[in-house]
Amino acid sequence: MTYRPDEETGGLAAIFAHPDDESFACAGAMALAHDAGRTVRLLLLTRGEAGTEDGTPDLDLAETREEEMRCAAGKIGMAEVTVIDHPDGRLAEVTFSLLVDEIAAWLADRRPDAVITFGKHGVTNDPDHVVAGAATRWAIERLAESGLAPNAVYVVAPVFGPGTKRYDLSAEEGAATHRIDITPVAGRKLGALACHASQADAAAEVLELRAAIDREGAVYEGFARVRPPVPNPHPKFDTRLV
Ligand SMILES: [Zn+2]
Repeated sequence: MTYRPDEETGGLAAIFAHPDDESFACAGAMALAHDAGRTVRLLLLTRGEAGTEDGTPDLDLAETREEEMRCAAGKIGMAEVTVIDHPDGRLAEVTFSLLVDEIAAWLADRRPDAVITFGKHGVTNDPDHVVAGAATRWAIERLAESGLAPNAVYVVAPVFGPGTKRYDLSAEEGAATHRIDITPVAGRKLGALACHASQADAAAEVLELRAAIDREGAVYEGFARVRPPVPNPHPKFDTRLV
């Protein structure tokens, strides 16, 4: 599925495994980039058909999630969403070099200035997340050999709220080098998460984010820049990634 294609190169691109990963990880940073006039794009490697209660693939759910993704893309202001139909929950079974080829080709056509993907533990240790992040970083290394690498590559380094379940993340993912204040667009992140109504995790995140907004505190998204690397500790509070 590709829709609302845009001929422009540059801007900000995110590459993840499932519809909804983008809303958890970087809806705010993407909305800020869009509002600053940058082209914002998303590449997903699955349609999310295994997002059922017991993980059994359901093609009707894939259709639903396509609609949900379209809804979220609208809230965020994405110019383009590309979804490759690899098996949800089984990305690790796909030939790794094929994933790298596909991601490299997508990036080479669009030449984003900055890319966001998952780090080594994929935030939740979901194997699809880990594979999506690893394949993206291999694709970028390959593009670098042709001088086509993006200027900056970020991995998701969540800024956890007080009640959030914490995962054992790598040092890279645990230490955000860029904390983006998304308070001005927090309502749009909330709206994007709410679009993914078929997913219980997204619904839970809606409640948590709404509580944070109601407390009138600042809301952040965290990222660690891995290319070029930023020496740690280097907490940088910034307004946007590109
Ligand atoms: Zn996911």
